[in-house]
Amino acid sequence: MKLTLKIVIGLILGAVIGLALHFFAPDIFEPIDKYFFTPLGTIFLNLIKMLVVPIVFISITLGTAAIGDPKKLGRIGGKALLFFLATTTIAITIAMGMAMILQPGSVGIETAEASYETAEAPSVIDTFTGIIPTNPIQAMVEGNMLQIITFAVFIGFALAMLGKKTEAVYRLLEQGNEIMMFLVNIVMKFAPYGAFGLLASAMGSLGISGAKAMLLYMITVFSVLFIHAIFTYGSAVALIAKRNPIHFFKAFIPAMTVGFSTSSSSSTLPVSMKVAQEELNVPKSISSFVQPLGATINMDGTAIMQGVATIFIAQVYQTDLSLSQLAMVVLTAVLASVGTAGVPGVGLVMLAMVLNQVSLPVEGIALIIGIDRILDMTRTAVNITGDAACAVIIAETEKKR
Ligand code: ASP
Repeated sequence: MKLTLKIVIGLILGAVIGLALHFFAPDIFEPIDKYFFTPLGTIFLNLIKMLVVPIVFISITLGTAAIGDPKKLGRIGGKALLFFLATTTIAITIAMGMAMILQPGSVGIETAEASYETAEAPSVIDTFTGIIPTNPIQAMVEGNMLQIITFAVFIGFALAMLGKKTEAVYRLLEQGNEIMMFLVNIVMKFAPYGAFGLLASAMGSLGISGAKAMLLYMITVFSVLFIHAIFTYGSAVALIAKRNPIHFFKAFIPAMTVGFSTSSSSSTLPVSMKVAQEELNVPKSISSFVQPLGATINMDGTAIMQGVATIFIAQVYQTDLSLSQLAMVVLTAVLASVGTAGVPGVGLVMLAMVLNQVSLPVEGIALIIGIDRILDMTRTAVNITGDAACAVIIAETEKKR
């Protein structure tokens, strides 16, 4: 808990100092940012990113091998996918409903200056066939999480089937895991300073002035993120896992603060797994299988932003969406959030795919790009909370069997 407090203090101090410099001393913000805030944040980011690829590979391999029985593996994978899809669908539905009620795009926003270069969003089919790596080493070099996961599942499955014959490799990976978790502990000691640097840099360059026009949009996204986290995850943890949701959220705060400061589900993975295993008592085999998968494909916070943003842009451009178009938004936003990589800002790129699908102007993204940073931070915290909730639920339901 002491570390959590330190991280929170780092976050608040960073935000306050960043904003103060933005408003009162913008000239000196730039050099301070360049030589102090940004390097501080980058060192922290790099430190945890350094651990991500080995942790994902080792933990999924071990998780798969530990579950062993293909039937059990299928059951846990099936439950995880079901949970991911169901919660993401709920998330986007609440998001669209809330955006229709609050109407953030109907407050007279200028569209004249909107211009946005469409980034190429990968097609759904490419994403699916691309899951199998043709070169696993390349997948690791590029940090392609889905491919790494697939390869790890294959290796883990082989380890389980070969049993005694490959015991040494299994033990090697287990020891590798020990090393990684040890390093996570060390890196986390730097988290309060990293969080400070990241927040000071973000707030100092962003300020809150540009945010005014988009205030209602931001409020809508924030409130849906909050509602979804508290009610959807809270009730899932209480009703399905029969655990105290308050304890769940309290224990998971350290991971949420790291998700918030890094804006990256993947980067937060080492921390969120550690918290789930040590504080939420999720067995290693389940945590190491469910959470990396979730950090890669389960992004409820991202889906929420995409849902609100789509309705917002439709309102700004005074376009009415038919019922079937709304259903299309749900479907594509679920796919888009699956395809979103757990790194900063990708959710916004994938929004282009959703907008295209219902023929809304992609330039609309320009309206929200300026304030997306702060939303990215918040939705990432929600994204990883969903993965942890899923891990807790699967752990409890498996225990009962
Ligand atoms: N930054 C988000 C994450 O890593 C993805 C996004 O919505 O851009 O979870």
